[in-house]
Amino acid sequence: MANIFSVDLEDWYHANYNRGSESGVARGESIIPRNVMKILDLLDENGSKCTFFVLGQVAEKFKDILRDIAARGHEIASHGFDHKLVYSQTEKEFREDVRRAKGTLEEITRKEIKGYRAPSWSITARSLWALPILLEEGYRYDSSIFPTQNFMYGIKNAPRFAHVHNLAAGNLLEVPPSTVRFCGTNIPFSGGFYFRVCPEFMIKTFSRIVSRSGYPTVFYIHPREIDTRQPRLELTFKNKFIHYAGIKNCLKKLTSIMSAFPMTSIEIFYGKFFREGVL
Ligand SMILES: [Zn+2]
Repeated sequence: MANIFSVDLEDWYHANYNRGSESGVARGESIIPRNVMKILDLLDENGSKCTFFVLGQVAEKFKDILRDIAARGHEIASHGFDHKLVYSQTEKEFREDVRRAKGTLEEITRKEIKGYRAPSWSITARSLWALPILLEEGYRYDSSIFPTQNFMYGIKNAPRFAHVHNLAAGNLLEVPPSTVRFCGTNIPFSGGFYFRVCPEFMIKTFSRIVSRSGYPTVFYIHPREIDTRQPRLELTFKNKFIHYAGIKNCLKKLTSIMSAFPMTSIEIFYGKFFREGVL
């Protein structure tokens, strides 16, 4: 079975460690062009497809890169416009952000944008009001609810696999990042910090366990996670560890996992549902 591969397309300074804070302002050289090329080549080498959740600010800056990604058969979806935490916004601000992001991406790619992933997985128990807004704004799926709980995000008992939110205005598909269940707890492994610190054999084993449940593993990565030359943010010791641990070996690990596991985009994997109008 194919797995799902996704990239949160943002720059090295897009981070939300301080509650309620906005992500950093643009400074220095962007790491996006060189890393997107690496990821696109890796995808082509393995005949894989990917969903790129693109930040609106990034899309405006790199229109040609965005068109290249779409021309190579990958899905463009939305990561919001400004990388603000959903639960730190008002409903009105959130609506404006996701509307602006969708409009920007559709204008550049000339394609319908179906999916949304919140900055730092910030649709949590206190920001579930975001789901009907996404549907009303024309999104057809969400990939923002992490079925775990930590200091920044997650809903501990959220469903671990893809499911449908039956909302008053219709159905919205939810595609959560993957976890394995161990001693009554959901253990993340398939992206970000977890992917970087988890040994390769464990990621492979966990992905096979997810497959046996009949679902794809939903992998995710940020360009900065495969870039050892990026400028560094000033962070606390703990946040520095979360942000930079395991970057040195991440590309090697990703290359190996991509060659071992077939990957596709969310739009392709759930294409039947989108085409039949179920979602
Ligand atoms: Zn992000």
